[in-house]
Amino acid sequence: MDVSYILDSLNQAQREAVGAAQGSLLVLAGAGSGKTRVLTHRVAWLVQACQVSPLSILAVTFTNKAAQEMKGRIEQMLGYPMRGMWVGTLHSVAHRMLRAHWQEAGLQQGFQILDSDDQIRLIKRTLKELNLDEGYWPPRQIQWYIHGHKEEGRRPGHIAEGIDPQQRELRRIYQSYEQLCQRFGLVDFSELLLRAYELIKNNEPLRARYQERFQHVLVDEFQDTNAVQYEWLRLFAAKHGNIFVVGDDDQSIYSWRGARIENILQFERDFPNTNVVRLEQNYRSTGNILSIANAVIDHNQSRMGKKLWTRGDQGDPVRLYVAYNEMDEARFVLDRIQSWVEQGHARSEVAILYRSNAQSRVFEEVLMQVNMPYRVYGGLRFFERAEIKDALAYLRLIASRQDDPSFERIVNMPTRGIGNRTLEQVRDYARINQVSLWDASRALIHGSELSARVISSLGRFIDLIERLAHQVEEQTLADQVEQVLQLSGLLAHFAKDKGEKAQGRVENLEELITAARNYEHDTEEGLDPLPAFLSHAALESGEGQGEEWQDCVQLMSLHSAKGLEFPLVFLTGLEEGLFPHQRSLQEQGRLEEERRLCYVGMTRAMQALYISYAEVRRLYGRESYASPSRFLSEIPSEMLSIVRGGIRTELAPSIGDVESSDNHQVKLGGRVRHNSFGDGVVLSVEGRGEHTRVQVNFESVGNKWLVLAYANLEKL
Ligand code: ATP
Ligand code: MG
Repeated sequence: MDVSYILDSLNQAQREAVGAAQGSLLVLAGAGSGKTRVLTHRVAWLVQACQVSPLSILAVTFTNKAAQEMKGRIEQMLGYPMRGMWVGTLHSVAHRMLRAHWQEAGLQQGFQILDSDDQIRLIKRTLKELNLDEGYWPPRQIQWYIHGHKEEGRRPGHIAEGIDPQQRELRRIYQSYEQLCQRFGLVDFSELLLRAYELIKNNEPLRARYQERFQHVLVDEFQDTNAVQYEWLRLFAAKHGNIFVVGDDDQSIYSWRGARIENILQFERDFPNTNVVRLEQNYRSTGNILSIANAVIDHNQSRMGKKLWTRGDQGDPVRLYVAYNEMDEARFVLDRIQSWVEQGHARSEVAILYRSNAQSRVFEEVLMQVNMPYRVYGGLRFFERAEIKDALAYLRLIASRQDDPSFERIVNMPTRGIGNRTLEQVRDYARINQVSLWDASRALIHGSELSARVISSLGRFIDLIERLAHQVEEQTLADQVEQVLQLSGLLAHFAKDKGEKAQGRVENLEELITAARNYEHDTEEGLDPLPAFLSHAALESGEGQGEEWQDCVQLMSLHSAKGLEFPLVFLTGLEEGLFPHQRSLQEQGRLEEERRLCYVGMTRAMQALYISYAEVRRLYGRESYASPSRFLSEIPSEMLSIVRGGIRTELAPSIGDVESSDNHQVKLGGRVRHNSFGDGVVLSVEGRGEHTRVQVNFESVGNKWLVLAYANLEKL
């Protein structure tokens, strides 16, 4: 077979990496220089040129979207689907391994994955069991503490007891939390990795088996591996030593989750004959985009240091939009997207990036107003919506009765007369007898502590779950979901409320049936569809929303944009305190990480990049005036062309419909008075002439759209 096609589309340095002999190899290179391309070509090369079986390849990356792309690129190159190859996120690979070896890993067969919310709930319960006050021991901080240790591979037993009472107590909480997880068959995100690592490390035969199997280990975004992940990957590669890692120190953005940039240096020590390849030519972005990205990242002290260059065009200037407020920012972005789409481009070529997930809401609002399809990655995603979690909790309890967080969530949802007092009794019983809430309820029903009324409502709940479990046994996944939605009373509960919000919830629940139907059960893992689907919901949240077939604008946090590229990018909210984030302002190290995040954001753009900030922003229910982000001042002014809210400047000829403020009697951010609505502030102006519409935020009635010609607004 002629395999030269694999090397044809690569430059010299890339070829060297892709066609390298066996052994360890490190590609250290800047954004858009083809690292991921090299990695996927390497896989194709191994399979086609070196006749390596797809089954002996393990290729990992960090986000679900990146993993999907990686899979897609490999399949495209090989021309056939890669069923047997292990390609995925580190979490999904760990999960797969634990499902296959749950027994060896000391887990329950139907173990469930705890997402962040469930985890907080379980931490609260742990505190209660230990008689500790939540006010004094904030659950979020405990969560950080536990993750922090797990990411470094430390169990409570590894932490020195010490003499500091605070530290001793934290350690004790961690320990009790672990016991609860173990008892109820629950696994949190960092546990997935730690458990999978311990499994391979401590189980000699299993380790030998996987070391034999994975003859080639490939890792994308290597700069963001944490201690456990690195050790785990190293174990796989220990026998053959064929490990191929690609990364960029300037894009390390997960140190707050334990990522260790030092792994790059450690790698060369652990694999002494490593071949290091550097790539400097960027194939992704225009010259103008690269210049500002380089200018910003240059302000970091601790860098391995490299410069990117491109043979491509300088391209359009990078534009900075100074918005009056967050609504103005969102409308500007929408306006640009609309012209982009009118020019015949796809919506999926557009990404709106932000520092905090909460920023997505305003963009969602304006996109929804004009029915522009969009998809949000990260943040409050489909599988995290309350009603979906309710439905999933039913399914989870059916899959495992020991799942206490699910029990708590639905025992009285929809309401069935099981009050807090009853629950307290159930919890007490569970605590004293060290059993699950489910078992406690059953015991109490047969005891004499509860009133007849309570016994009957609790009994009805227990019966309901048992009945459901029995009925769905032989059904397809989608039918199971539908059955549960009906019989649990959830659908009826939301359907009886005619409000828009409740209707939305009903639609979401119905969407869950579709999600179940579309869920392609990976038979290879030999799992029952229900637990597989539930894990999928916990692991892949975000991928299920929006319609697969629909061409959608992409909304995501900067963290989840890593590794991706888009022709048109909006980098929004460049305000001190928001980006760089408030928490990073005090510490040099964290500020540098924010700057890397900024660099990651800018280098996602291929053809056009818009940067924006708002002078006033309402976020988390508060309004604040912020100064522009320091990252903006790090860009030489001649590299940016500035567009001010609502005003067309000659620097920005393509800001089409945005009119100069003189053409209207009102101006953005101006105060106006309306006969019936009272005083307010103008948020946006759109259209022209008699079609001009304005959006005003009225003090008394909130946001309203008005046709300017009829509104009779008085300028204040
Ligand atoms: P990041 O650091 O953001 O993950 P990367 O180094 O992984 O970036 P890739 O995504 O692999 O970069 O490549 C960036 C873009 O450049 C892709 O569209 C890729 O197809 C293209 N590209 C890379 N190398 C070449 C090449 N030799 N010829 C043509 N296009 C290339
Ligand atoms: Mg990449």
